Amino acid sequence: MNALTDLPAPAALAATFSDRLPAPVRDEPQQVARLLAELHGRLDWAAVIALGTPWVDAVRRHPAPFWAMESLLREYPISSAEGLALMRLAEALLRVPDTETALALTADQLGRADFAAHTHDGQEHALMSHLAAQAIELSKKMLPGDEATGQRAGLLQRLGAKTVVAATVRAIQLLGRQFVLGQNIGEALDRAAANHREHRLLRHSFDMLGEGARTDADAQRYAGSYADAIRAIAARGRPGRPEDGDGISIKLSAIDPRYEAAQFATVQRRMMPRLLALVDAAASANLNLTIDAEETERLELSLAVLDATAAHVAQRFPTWRGLGLAVQAYQTRAPEMVEAVIEIARRHGLRLMVRLVKGAYWDGEIKRAQEMGLSGYPVWTDKRHTDLSYLACAQRLLAAAEIYPQFATHNAGTIAAILEMARAAGRIGADPGFELQRLHGMGEGIHREVLKRTDAPPLRIYAPVGEHRDLLAYLVRRLLENGANSSFVHQLADEAVSIPALLASPLRAAAPSTLPLPRRLYGESRVNALGVDPGVERERLPLLARLAVPMPAAPTDDSAASAALAMDALHRAQPAWNAVPLPERCAVLRRAANLMERQMTELVALLAQEGRKTFGDGVAEVREAIDFCRYYAEQAEARLAPQALPGPTGEKNELRLHGRGVFVCISPWNFPLAIFAGQVVAALVAGNTVAAKPAEQTPRSARRCVELLIEAGLPADAIRLVCGPGETVGAALVAHPRCAGVCFTGSTQVAKIIQRQLAMGNGPIVPLIAETGGLNAMIVDSSALPEQVVDAVVQSAFRSAGQRCSALRLLLVHEGVADKVTEMIAGAMAELVCGDPADAASGWSVDVGPVIDAEAHAGLSAQVARLEREARLVARTAMDARFSATHIAPVAFELKSVREMKQEIFGPVLHIVRWSGPVDAVVDQVNALGYGLTLGIHTRIDDRAHRIAERARVGNVYVNRNMIGAVVGVQPFGGEGLSGTGPKAGGPHYLYRFCGEQTLTVNTAAAGGNAALLAGE
Ligand SMILES: Cc1cc2nc3c(=O)[nH]c(=O)nc-3n(C[C@H](O)[C@H](O)[C@H](O)COP(=O)(O)OP(=O)(O)OC[C@H]3O[C@@H](n4cnc5c(N)ncnc54)[C@H](O)[C@@H]3O)c2cc1C
Repeated sequence: MNALTDLPAPAALAATFSDRLPAPVRDEPQQVARLLAELHGRLDWAAVIALGTPWVDAVRRHPAPFWAMESLLREYPISSAEGLALMRLAEALLRVPDTETALALTADQLGRADFAAHTHDGQEHALMSHLAAQAIELSKKMLPGDEATGQRAGLLQRLGAKTVVAATVRAIQLLGRQFVLGQNIGEALDRAAANHREHRLLRHSFDMLGEGARTDADAQRYAGSYADAIRAIAARGRPGRPEDGDGISIKLSAIDPRYEAAQFATVQRRMMPRLLALVDAAASANLNLTIDAEETERLELSLAVLDATAAHVAQRFPTWRGLGLAVQAYQTRAPEMVEAVIEIARRHGLRLMVRLVKGAYWDGEIKRAQEMGLSGYPVWTDKRHTDLSYLACAQRLLAAAEIYPQFATHNAGTIAAILEMARAAGRIGADPGFELQRLHGMGEGIHREVLKRTDAPPLRIYAPVGEHRDLLAYLVRRLLENGANSSFVHQLADEAVSIPALLASPLRAAAPSTLPLPRRLYGESRVNALGVDPGVERERLPLLARLAVPMPAAPTDDSAASAALAMDALHRAQPAWNAVPLPERCAVLRRAANLMERQMTELVALLAQEGRKTFGDGVAEVREAIDFCRYYAEQAEARLAPQALPGPTGEKNELRLHGRGVFVCISPWNFPLAIFAGQVVAALVAGNTVAAKPAEQTPRSARRCVELLIEAGLPADAIRLVCGPGETVGAALVAHPRCAGVCFTGSTQVAKIIQRQLAMGNGPIVPLIAETGGLNAMIVDSSALPEQVVDAVVQSAFRSAGQRCSALRLLLVHEGVADKVTEMIAGAMAELVCGDPADAASGWSVDVGPVIDAEAHAGLSAQVARLEREARLVARTAMDARFSATHIAPVAFELKSVREMKQEIFGPVLHIVRWSGPVDAVVDQVNALGYGLTLGIHTRIDDRAHRIAERARVGNVYVNRNMIGAVVGVQPFGGEGLSGTGPKAGGPHYLYRFCGEQTLTVNTAAAGGNAALLAGE
């Protein structure tokens, strides 16, 4: 069988799964209380402690050697500079191809840490010298292959005399080795055979390292290695039952780069056949195959995948009992997930295996929920709640005849509790119908003690197999896990934690959360805009349904004459609006924010229909508009109130701010709601009335925003929407003598026209706030993680079809990794879906929508044609011919030097240039382009990142992430040079520019003398 050529037909995936699971965000204390009630009286924790105490005691009496990872992390926890350095080096050093960068990285990280300050075994030992000795000694035994053939050997030799670096490389390799059973499946099977000989209850689940494929080539490679592994495991002999032998664990994100709910059709067409081919192979060999659990956003989809797979198995291998799924107890929906899996097993007449884990991505889930402004967290926020959830899930699994439970944990308390539960359920003895699991390289001591029991259940070791290049992500997750203060393995190694504390019961009322809810990220005074979780069907369906409602007709254009009349009317209305007390002006903004939040569905649909925004971009944009309202309200209260100033006695000094008059706000089509709203509400809250001129392409979004502001209490005469062409209507507004200031976002060229126009006018001298474009670069060195770089590049260059001021235009990639990164970018670009985001049926899956209009299309086509003649084509996304008149397919070209960059191309066009030598020279070349908006940096060398940021003349610098999507109040946005005037939108200095200032000095001693001074005040 070959997983890639002999594929079963696609399975029908159920398109809807919302009825299977509840919403992920519910009241956490209430849920905890529910689980506690369920377990009440079912578990005697005193018996758990009695069972677990001797295990802990035994392990503590024989601590692991110094170089073992547990010991290292006890001495250098990840919360310390040393632990962090160790983790950073582990994550990056092995992949660095060039000596120069390897040296810089090592020096950077070791320079931050003070390993020599630590002592152990009563003696002073510098970590590195200790590790060096250990590492070199051990590597002679353990790394012979590398020296002879591997890429690493080359690096080690080149590093030559640089012993510290060489020792670090070796130490990291050895750290990695602790978690990998073999570099290939043959080696792993040999070591597994030795384990089998050592103990009859040991089994393995092999994990072919690799996850999160970014390209289909990688996915095929991973799928191929799973297929090879299944063949190799099968060749070693078949057990009677799947649970009695070795098996395999697979990650679905490894076998398809688009394993995501939005790419449902691709999952069905491409991923399912790959998965089913592996399932067929495992079933034919009667092995067990477990689907690993990944991020929450895939949870609902994973259930649909399991269901379709179970249907397939029921038909082709009805007696096979080896199909399994991992369930994460840290999910707030874990108990319901378990119930859904039991229901699937029942419906298809199968017995399924369920591996219960706690969950490996807790920190990532918390960050994602905060970034997305979710209404709560999809995972428990307290470790004890996860432990409790684990037991509640275990209870369900042990009670289900259709399930073979597999309890994966290193926690002695959890293991003892499981054994107690199993005993109570009569599942004890020679064939208990469940097993325990641990990761290779972890929890060995406790499990060794458990295995000594005569009634011990089987133990399966999850055994990663693979080479260094695929190990790093896995290794870092394990280091984090072992190093986290709350983790059992960490506390086990810490004698300061008493055994009762270590085995404390999780069966207690909910602990108060120490994490702010995502909505409270910015404190109590400003609510984070509510987001939509696209992985949760019940959240996204209403938004998609709204796309079926056609958008309203556009407002009619104004003429230059009506624009002038509007300016006069706004001028007359300004004093009254300026006189509205500041708190009331702020309240209008806050009410408007709430209204927008309530209208999310309508606004996202409008942005798709009018602004051609994808689902994700639309949600992000509405949230940005909401954030602007709340942020400027908060800022206005903090900064625009009268301020007392110092002075001599007998005098009162005060600084007061007021609206300047009528502000002209001219906004672009690429953020028709967010930029429009941001400009307008900033001007309004400062006390100005506003002539708001939206882009010609997107007047409906602007009109809706104005309507909501008025509904929120803004006097209708404080704002006028003035639609029409910039050359006539816009020009009339700017040239009007009542214009007290202009806030403009758009091209550098138009900003200059406005600047000249303002300079030539005879009226007052007024401010111009301009935010324009950029030739935005991203600098990538050879310590960066290619997968992370590729994600950042594809998002930054091609989201919104490249039509963002902040979009990446110029990728500068170190020559040592350029081939690899470029190839991966090409593979990731091949995965992008071009289409119509406003299509109710397919819009959700669209990554790249049309460019804004025919004129933009013609201009971009000409620029791409020029690049085709002048540069080397690297990759272009394939696109359906239907879209050729409206879309520009994402495209990447390689240039020989930065100097070949001619102009900003406002579309999905990426330029790539390779660099080598000192990075400062690269930064200077970017500066010389004259723009200064955004810059991306990808490096693991902290010092280098800071140096580049300091040298770069740009407004927004992003390190090791994408460079778009600035968040209000978090990443104030705006540049310098040709990119704009500042102050930054969404930043603390913005509102001042909309204000006139007045100091009021009152001689309080004028009437007769200084009464206050004489009275001793
Ligand atoms: C055989 C095996 C297979 C595995 N497969 C998977 C898999 O497919 N998918 C996957 O995600 N993980 C998987 N894991 C990893 C597993 O999730 C971790 O090993 C596990 O979380 C560690 O749990 P523990 O019981 O050993 O340790 P413990 O120390 O008891 O628990 C640590 C866990 O508690 C949770 N936690 C930590 N802090 C908090 C907090 N503040 N609030 C709430 N919860 C918190 C986290 O899940 C953390 O990992 C697997 C583990 C094993 C042993």
